[in-house]
Amino acid sequence: MRVPLIAGNWKMYKTVAEAVDLVDGLLAGLGNPSDREIVVCPPFTALHALSPLLRGTEIHLGAQDVYPEVQGAFTGAISPVMLRDLGCQYVIVGHSERRQIFGEGDALINRKLHSAMTHGLRPILCVGETKPERDSGRAESVVVGQLRGCLEGVAASAAADLVVAYEPVWAIGTGDTATPADAQSMHAAIRQVLAEILGSEAASSIRLQYGGSVKPDNVDELMAQPDIDGALVGGASLKADSFLRIVQFR
Ligand code: PEP
Repeated sequence: MRVPLIAGNWKMYKTVAEAVDLVDGLLAGLGNPSDREIVVCPPFTALHALSPLLRGTEIHLGAQDVYPEVQGAFTGAISPVMLRDLGCQYVIVGHSERRQIFGEGDALINRKLHSAMTHGLRPILCVGETKPERDSGRAESVVVGQLRGCLEGVAASAAADLVVAYEPVWAIGTGDTATPADAQSMHAAIRQVLAEILGSEAASSIRLQYGGSVKPDNVDELMAQPDIDGALVGGASLKADSFLRIVQFR
């Protein structure tokens, strides 16, 4: 009942021309996948060019971040209304690079999440522990704290639009993937906390993605886990052949 969701986070890669090339390659090789959902999250600068290319296709458009306000004196920020205007359906909030490099905390991420939902964007909420947090046995409590902080005030009725991505920080861009068993165990814990916050019916409908060095050679095993409903893919989403293989997980 949870349709698997594979999303590509292109981070700060691809000029407009390169982004168009990548989308052309994806559309050419994708076929007609009816049992899974696909999203690409290019940099803001490529959204306008990609929007008409993706309209009516199997690939949805997403953004990598959003500011909670609709408009105003917020230099450098992009509002949810602007993203909707460009055809975005999804937006990543709380990515660990936003948390670590740009100093974002759960309170701001919570505002972004509410604003995204209010304006018709489906948030992909990222949570995950650092290596020292895992090594000191605090991985689960860190993730639970992030979930509680970021989901403050979210109603169970909004759950259908929510996606949660578990992305252990030590696995992002390192080639060091969580084992399928470790990922499954954290996903089960996340679903349990979601049940406490939003109720068990809502929790069982929320898609949980794993992110952190997902590649063509590990995606099948990860996706075979019962609580892993998709993948958030960074590096391997930057080339059509590797992202297509991930999308075509078996
Ligand atoms: C990410 O950016 O969310 C990510 C998971 O990156 P990578 O797949 O490169 O580890």
